[in-house]
Amino acid sequence: MNLATLNINLGSIKKNLNQIQNLSDETVETSAVLKANAYGLGVEPIAIFLFNEGVRTFFVSTVNEAVELSALLPKNAKIYYLNGYSLTDYQAISEFNIMPVLNSIEQITNFTQETDRKQAALQIDVGMKRLGLNQSELLKAKNLCKSIDLNLILGHLSSADNESDPVNLQQLKLFSNLASFFPSIPKSLAATGGTVLGENYHFDMTRPGIGLFGGNPLKNPEKVVTLSLPVLQIKDIKANEGVGYNHTFISKRKRKIAIVGSGYADGLSRQLSNSGILYGGDVMCPILGRISMDLITVDISNLRENPSFLTALGPSQTIDDLAEQSATIGYEILTSLGSRYKRVYNY
Ligand SMILES: *Cc1c(COP(=O)(O)O)cnc(C)c1O
Repeated sequence: MNLATLNINLGSIKKNLNQIQNLSDETVETSAVLKANAYGLGVEPIAIFLFNEGVRTFFVSTVNEAVELSALLPKNAKIYYLNGYSLTDYQAISEFNIMPVLNSIEQITNFTQETDRKQAALQIDVGMKRLGLNQSELLKAKNLCKSIDLNLILGHLSSADNESDPVNLQQLKLFSNLASFFPSIPKSLAATGGTVLGENYHFDMTRPGIGLFGGNPLKNPEKVVTLSLPVLQIKDIKANEGVGYNHTFISKRKRKIAIVGSGYADGLSRQLSNSGILYGGDVMCPILGRISMDLITVDISNLRENPSFLTALGPSQTIDDLAEQSATIGYEILTSLGSRYKRVYNY
């Protein structure tokens, strides 16, 4: 069987976790953000692995993701869902070991009225203008929150991937000021980017996601994923022959080409047409012509032997390298990784 295979190295995730933990003081808790199926890599094995490595607090986006995660982890795991409390969450919160992040006055009011389990986090909008309460809402929230067991005050930086952006310091100051309305409650501001910015940004807990999985803005992360694509057929083409849909590539000379079993339906963007690179070992194999739904054609003229697999992600090419070729970011490369890939976990 020649299936495209996504290899996920849990040992590398552990090294990245340790690198992130070492950026913080011992008193700071490092949580893990596992939204979108652990950034496309498979929430079940990764959540269990991280729990066994000592991670106790987890974040996902939706209530459904939180329910799924709570079924995987022991009861002493703390699981928050970021996208806020809605009235239909009542059932899930009473049945499962999950907590909402409250993002508005309305959510706080509904939560205090509808649920008997009153543990939650509260999110402050420090300038991204996404989810969370602003300064005037926060004053109101302080009273409303008296009947809630607030476990955490959260903020999220808009520009932490750019160390030199002065917005970072402004948002840090705003968070420090506003979060001090809730003096005795633990606080968390930093995702991966904020964790790299420095200890001022760490408060009581950091919330890395992408850094665990080997992406920027973590500095020198361990590579976590290898994506091997099967070579389905090999052909020789002559000068002036066209390749792929609409013949957007016409070869000036003869070449040896490989037809590889993966395509845009598996998350390899059509942006890679005529520009992206696959690798045979450490030898570059340029993509020729259009990316199809399930197939990619590459030039293997420089390989000494006919390959049975080529890699899209691996030692020679990181998620951020492929992101650059795809005009996107490493996050989108990971979360686009297709469900058809056979996911293999090793250590
Ligand atoms: C996604 C997310 C994170 C994790 O961000 P990374 O950049 O992947 O580390 C942390 N906090 C919030 C609120 C998020 O939405």
